[in-house]
This record gives sequence, C-alpha cells and structure tokens, in this order.
Amino acid sequence: MSRIAYVNGRFVRHRDACIHIEDRGNQFADAVYEVWGVRGGALMDFDGHMTRLARSLSELQIRPPMSNASLSVILARMVALNHIGNGLIYLQISRGQARRDHIFPPLDTRPGIMITAKPVNFEKAEVRAGKGISVITQPDIRWARRDIKSVSLLPNVLAKQAAAEAGAGECWMIDADGFITEASASNVWIVTADGTLVTRPASNDILNGITRRTLFELARNAGIKTQERPFTRDEALSAREAFITSASAFLTPVVEIDGKSVANGHPGTFSLQLRASYVATANERARKQINRPSVWLVARRGERPVN
Ligand code: PLP
Repeated sequence: MSRIAYVNGRFVRHRDACIHIEDRGNQFADAVYEVWGVRGGALMDFDGHMTRLARSLSELQIRPPMSNASLSVILARMVALNHIGNGLIYLQISRGQARRDHIFPPLDTRPGIMITAKPVNFEKAEVRAGKGISVITQPDIRWARRDIKSVSLLPNVLAKQAAAEAGAGECWMIDADGFITEASASNVWIVTADGTLVTRPASNDILNGITRRTLFELARNAGIKTQERPFTRDEALSAREAFITSASAFLTPVVEIDGKSVANGHPGTFSLQLRASYVATANERARKQINRPSVWLVARRGERPVN
C-alpha cells in the first residue's frame, strides 16, 4: 500500500512528493506546522489544533491557504487514503515559493502547504508510559517566540538528539533564571506533595500544547488542584510525580531527571490515571468530530481548495 501525501493542491504518492527549492519554509524556516494524533481514524483535539494553527499563521502574517472547511476535508481524506487507524497527521504551511529574499514576497504569493500521515503503534507508547521515561536537562537556547508553532526547530532537534545520546526519552530545557520552560517536543508538569498539578503558564516562553490545554480542563473538571507557575529542576526532583504531554505521546510519566529518580523511580498512579482519562476524553471528542456533518457536507459539495 503506497503512502499518500498532500502537496500544494494535489494528493501524490509519498515518494513522489516534493516542494520547490525556493519554498520559504526550506530557506528561512518561514513556515508553521501542526500535528494531530489520530485514534480510531479520527483526529484528536481537532478544533484546538486548528485554532492554534490560525494563531501561528496570523502571528507570522502568513495567509491561510484555504478555508478551515476545505482543510478539514483534506485532513480527513489523508486519514482515509493512508488507512490510518492510529497515527499522526503532520501539516506544514509556508509563506510560499519566491526568489530568495529576507523581505516577505508579494502579498499574492500562494502559501505552500504539505501534509503527511503515518501510522503509529500506540501500544508501544502505552508500554513506554507504563515504564516511564528518563530525561536530561539543558539550557533553553531557542528564540523568544516559542508560542508560535514554527518549523524553526533546530534547538529542539539538538536537545532531543542529546537526550537520545544519553539514553533518555526527552530533554527538558531551562531558562536563564533556572526554571524549566518545556521539553524539546512536549510540555512539562509536576505533581506536588499535596497533589497539585503544576505547569508553566502559557506565554511566549513555551508552546501552549493542545494536550496541555485539554488536560488542564480535564483536571479542573475533576476537581484536581492546578497551578500555572514556573518550577525548577530541583523542585521537579522532589515532586511526587512528573510527566510530559504532547499530541504524539499524550501523557508520559518521567521517572528520572539527569540520572536522579523522581520519587520512587516508577510512574505514579496520579499520572497514569490522568493519562487514561485524557485518552478516553480525546477519543470521545475525536469520535464526535468524525461525525460532524459540516465536514462531510463540504466534501460532498466538492468545495475545492483555494490553492
Ligand atoms: N512544546 C513543544 C516544543 C512541542 O514541540 C510540542 C509538540 O510538538 C508541545 C510542547 C506539545 O504540544 P501539543 O500538545 O499540542 O502536541
């Protein structure tokens, strides 16, 4: 079965998919992206990711390539064409293709869009979550607009590689004042001794994860005490539990930081219960999304993407 990609208005075989060498995403990282988890063929936290995508585009003054309705159809089609039951959808939108120049190209330059899909074995992730992961820490060397989901990810790549070389699952990044910002591809949380769920507040310092937002809502609805404030590595080491969240890993317990155990070095019940209720809620929402008639009505009418 061949993988299918979507590039600038066309569904093409993954191996034939290509963009122009002067796509600005390629030359300047002048592009934004989103990643959806797919469970049972449905995109998880669909609206949250769409809203953040619109914000990232707007912050960088990149024109949306098409309406949300058209994009929804294409995303759903990508899931179907690639037979994705459980997996990930990656979407990238650039400022388009233009002769290399730092200054923005003319306003009528068409934005570039590409989408890929891949299956993921969530059972493996479940096993990983059951064991917990170790993390390392490093200074956060990224730019000052980490709230924008831009493809400028080199510091994140270096951090994740350092973690892999150290045999760890993630790298937590630390700001100039000694507080954890987030991890290379996930948000960071701790559970304090009195059972309060703590994570850094959303600001320009971190990417406001969609999983983070959903989990917050879930915790508050369940009457769990929550606090948005920065915390240090030492506080995390003396916490009852620690974990990371992202669309691809959901909630994964952290059992070791820089070679030192968090609590007894095993995933805590609090984290594992939260993970289970996150997955159940996200699945439920995804099922509602797939049944939302507006998405399919647009498809039947055959609305074409603007691109
Ligand atoms: N922070 C960073 C730097 C990320 O790259 C990601 C996900 O890619 C996240 C946080 C988590 O965001 P989300 O929950 O929307 O996947």
